Amino acid sequence: MSNVLQFNPKPQICAICNKPVEPTIAVTDQDGKPVHEECYVLKVRQEDAKKPPTVS
Ligand SMILES: [Zn+2]
Repeated sequence: MSNVLQFNPKPQICAICNKPVEPTIAVTDQDGKPVHEECYVLKVRQEDAKKPPTVS
């Protein structure tokens, strides 16, 4: 039976690891790109680590 129309959502590719990410678990980064939540957390942590401590 191949006559069943399947709902085929546009595949989303994680902008960080370039692997497919299911729309149900995708989160959106600052650029509006789909990313894995895990990847996003890791990326944010890395960027935080790169930033010099803010002295105000
Ligand atoms: Zn990812």
